Amino acid sequence: MNNSAKMTVNIIGAGITGLAAAYFLLKKGHQVNVFESAPEVGGLSGFFPVEGTYLEKYYHHIFSGHTGLIDLMKELNMAEDVMFRKVKTGFFYENKVYPFATPKDLLLFTPLKIKDRLRLGLGSLKMMRIRDWQGMENESALDWLRKHSGAESCRIVWEPLLKMKFGDNYDRISAAWLWNRVVDRKKSKEGGGGKEAMGYIRTGYKKLFDELVEAIRRQGGELHTGAAIEKISVEKGKSTGIISNGNLIAGDVIIATMPIPSFLHLVSSLPLEYKARLSAVKYQGSTCVVLKLKQALSDYYWINISDPRSPFVGIIEHTNLISPDYYGNRHLVYLTKYSSSEDRIFSRSKDDIYRDFSAYLEKIFPEFRAADVEQSWVFQDRFSQPVFVRNYSKTMPDMRTPVKDLYILNTAHLYPESRCLNSSIIKARTLVDDIGGKNDDNR
Ligand SMILES: Cc1cc2nc3c(=O)[nH]c(=O)nc-3n(C[C@H](O)[C@H](O)[C@H](O)COP(=O)(O)OP(=O)(O)OC[C@H]3O[C@@H](n4cnc5c(N)ncnc54)[C@H](O)[C@@H]3O)c2cc1C
Repeated sequence: MNNSAKMTVNIIGAGITGLAAAYFLLKKGHQVNVFESAPEVGGLSGFFPVEGTYLEKYYHHIFSGHTGLIDLMKELNMAEDVMFRKVKTGFFYENKVYPFATPKDLLLFTPLKIKDRLRLGLGSLKMMRIRDWQGMENESALDWLRKHSGAESCRIVWEPLLKMKFGDNYDRISAAWLWNRVVDRKKSKEGGGGKEAMGYIRTGYKKLFDELVEAIRRQGGELHTGAAIEKISVEKGKSTGIISNGNLIAGDVIIATMPIPSFLHLVSSLPLEYKARLSAVKYQGSTCVVLKLKQALSDYYWINISDPRSPFVGIIEHTNLISPDYYGNRHLVYLTKYSSSEDRIFSRSKDDIYRDFSAYLEKIFPEFRAADVEQSWVFQDRFSQPVFVRNYSKTMPDMRTPVKDLYILNTAHLYPESRCLNSSIIKARTLVDDIGGKNDDNR
């Protein structure tokens, strides 16, 4: 396709990637149609009604370095909607919650001997000073940490944290992924005396999606919800359209934004080498139990749970990031768990999951009673986080597929960054510049 000519682009998926790509393409003067299988937009950043407003199904926050997201919000006249707040982070180990954010917290972390606490701190400092992640992606995060933070701090702190996030894959994760996480969090501590400042959209992520949809429609873009794409039609190595409800919808370019396993169901004729690259990407799934409570659980925003018996790995008390006043003075808490997309948790009933999670919460907070829960919700997604193994950059599937005019962009393309709205927005802009012309913004 001549990328200065006006094109018709069909986008599959109305999560942040699909909608950001639509918005940037429209600004360049292209025609855009977005197709979303769910009844609403939002994807993994989707929301549900709570106390007269909306809350995200999975916890969401912003780091101060997330300028791609913040700039987009400025364009949408939402600059005033972002707020930052210093929050407390904790680490639950052997029946106690330890503060776990500042250098002082690390020094007072008694489960480790003092020499191991120092090594833990020095390892993190060393990682923050690294500029070039390419040089470390050959090594696993765990090997790097054992070398630089010591075996004991790995056993008590890092290994449980990696297991929480990546389950059985915990020792295969690239050190480059961890580097990115540590650097992102360092930025969020700058100016906060070591305490983390986390951000949130005070009007809820729904407002961001509402404004994006409004801007897309204002520029002539079309959005179809409840419109599952059943197939991507390919003839002689070129995409010829998408099929929804048995009808072929033609266009010049297709951008697919769903996770890879769902994409593979849509295209039957991909060259074998590219298909193998796609199939090699493995995913972790997510389960979040959301609780609505009359009382706060604690004053921590985030508590990592280092306890192999716990059914969840993190407690995120949302109303310690944003005031409970926004939710009729109720306190909202996420209990989160990551597991392989094949894990049996995805075939368990929501009632069972809720029962297990809330029962364990009583062990962590003995004063908490399941009866204190006014309302609860369980959300699950099998493909929420790609597993970034060592040397992932060498096998990462290209966004430009070998099928002419067919592109794929999703969280598997964000490496070494962790999946977040900011990275998806930046990648969507890059892809649009690539296929839609670099210098013809705002015509
Ligand atoms: C537990 C958890 C915590 C998170 N925390 C944060 C955080 O703190 N900060 C942050 O920035 N990000 C966070 N994220 C990540 C963020 O939510 C995702 O990175 C982001 O939403 C991904 O957007 P996406 O558009 O790439 O994919 P998705 O949101 O998955 O969108 C893909 C869309 O495609 C649609 N689709 C799939 N198949 C079809 C089809 N055949 N036809 C039509 N439509 C289809 C889906 O319904 C979906 O809406 C978190 C995610 C999880 C799970």
